[in-house]
Amino acid sequence: MTMGDRWHVEVDRSVCIGSAQCRHHAPDGFRLDSARQSHPSEPETDASEGILAAAESCPVEAITITLLGSGEAVFPPED
Ligand code: SF4
Repeated sequence: MTMGDRWHVEVDRSVCIGSAQCRHHAPDGFRLDSARQSHPSEPETDASEGILAAAESCPVEAITITLLGSGEAVFPPED
């Protein structure tokens, strides 16, 4: 992770199970709606340890992070 990068954050709500680990790691980065579906607070955001930890902790890998602009994978990392 490079500080100063700008990220695009997405939650695949077809797989999100509402477990809220993302909010535990990044309380300002995600919100849960009334159906306990997670939404990024800001789909375009500065690179952040908390948001990366949220993506890594999601039990169903619902959170995808890419570099804004290039679309290069941040999480999950490319093989
Ligand atoms: S950690 Fe993953 S499954 Fe749990 S609420 Fe967040 S996005 Fe959904």
